[in-house]
Amino acid sequence: MLNNQGRPTTPKDSAVASHETFTRNRGLQMEEALLFEIGRTDVTGVDLDEPTAFVSRLGDLARDEEIGLPGLSEPETMRHFVRLSQKNYAIDSGLYPLGSCTMKHNPRLNESMARLPGFGDIHPLQPQSTVQGALALIEELAGWLMTLTNMDAVAMSPKAGAHGEYCGMAAIKAAIEAKGEGALRKVVLVPESAHGTNPATAAAIGFEVRSVPAGADGNVHPDAVRALMGPDVAAIMLTNPNTCGLFERQIVEIAQILHEGGGYFYCDGANFNAIVGKVRPGDLGIDAMHINLHKTFSTPHGGGGPGAGPVVLSSRLAPFAPVPFIKRDGDELALVEDAHGTQALGRLTAFHGQMGMFVRALSYILSHGSDGLKQASEDAVLNANYVRARLADLMSLPFGNRPCMHEVLFDDTWLKDTGVTTLDFAKAMIDEGYHPMTMYFPLVVHGAMLIEPTESESLASLELFIMTLRDLAMSALRGETTRFEGAPFYAPRRRLDETRAARAPVLRWIPPQPIMDAQQAAE
Ligand SMILES: *Cc1c(COP(=O)(O)O)cnc(C)c1O
Repeated sequence: MLNNQGRPTTPKDSAVASHETFTRNRGLQMEEALLFEIGRTDVTGVDLDEPTAFVSRLGDLARDEEIGLPGLSEPETMRHFVRLSQKNYAIDSGLYPLGSCTMKHNPRLNESMARLPGFGDIHPLQPQSTVQGALALIEELAGWLMTLTNMDAVAMSPKAGAHGEYCGMAAIKAAIEAKGEGALRKVVLVPESAHGTNPATAAAIGFEVRSVPAGADGNVHPDAVRALMGPDVAAIMLTNPNTCGLFERQIVEIAQILHEGGGYFYCDGANFNAIVGKVRPGDLGIDAMHINLHKTFSTPHGGGGPGAGPVVLSSRLAPFAPVPFIKRDGDELALVEDAHGTQALGRLTAFHGQMGMFVRALSYILSHGSDGLKQASEDAVLNANYVRARLADLMSLPFGNRPCMHEVLFDDTWLKDTGVTTLDFAKAMIDEGYHPMTMYFPLVVHGAMLIEPTESESLASLELFIMTLRDLAMSALRGETTRFEGAPFYAPRRRLDETRAARAPVLRWIPPQPIMDAQQAAE
């Protein structure tokens, strides 16, 4: 019996609301119109006097019509953007099982470190003598990254994983050209299971992509690589652990094949979070690997940025590392910014990289220590295997019930004849308050569902997630399709035509009245 003091906590009658509300808000879940729909061109949030004695030097380039942008008062603007932000699902609001993306908790300690004025308020053009502490932080983080990977050099400036891929492949290209083999080695081997950024990077650098088939066990086999190896091959781009959540066990032999054939080994290190403290990529024969600080070292992913993708390089590629890099002269630290007269491949970004991300990553590394980093990897792998073991009786595993690394891959064999697809299942998860797992990637399995719980989740949180998926899975297997058809039912917008949104995006807002006029004119 609850002892309710004050207002009653149980409603008088528990009828579920079936009416549309006047405002179209649902309780405190607000309906949010576009800025163009709520703003007016004759309203502005600023109150500044017209400048006096102002002579424009634009001549006839000056716009003489109104710009036509909608204006809002400051509180209206605030509310619009805060409400939009509240529609975001985030790792701070719940479990975010998006495979390959490593949506792990970003510790608040990192945030307070990044806001220290000596890190947060500096400018990239400040004299170097005034930012020695910041340079020391970058140097210390670089040291950790080289130690954890056993590599010779690290380029700190790339600003995302894909940008890191570009940096590493550009270093490989520079090394090949330095050997006079630029015209010969034009091909990059990329496994079928690779993340789309890998072939895109190779192509952007001017290489031709040759696809390596995956074995029936989800791994890349040395024989498949050997069959494609030749004097025209510049490099392989291999992900380890791979995008099926499996460790590439024959990676050392694959590295040997590349090296014996005069090629280089690029490793996509986006999944480094599964092996930090357990395996050093440098010991596996890797020549270049990017590290997504926003995946492995808990810096926020942001809304597509800012990330950071430092690239570790072997001794074979170290001379080609881009500028800037830090040079120590006694107690003095200096940024080397000039590539002339060196083999450095040039510059990848305007300044020195994502300072805020460097601070957060180092904060994470130092607060965990080497033993803690190793445990984080082990816990990430344990959590993924727990999910696998608890769902394997209902959902199908494409490569048999063998242990996975930090993420577990299911396919849609188990949904056959249920009338429910991977997409339906993922949309029904939204109704249950979960961001869906990664769907239909990797492409090597049919109807892929790639789940990465990360080490952030407690046993209780994992249990609730697992019970939710079991409940959904049993509904699907019992043929209760109503829960799936048309899901999500409780999201602000129902099921969207994602294909059409991608193929025929509407990128310009057109005022409704002219649309109607145009339609009438067409009739
Ligand atoms: C995330 C990811 C990338 C790309 O990293 P970004 O930081 O998003 O550019 C590349 N490869 C794999 C396997 C990934 O998971």
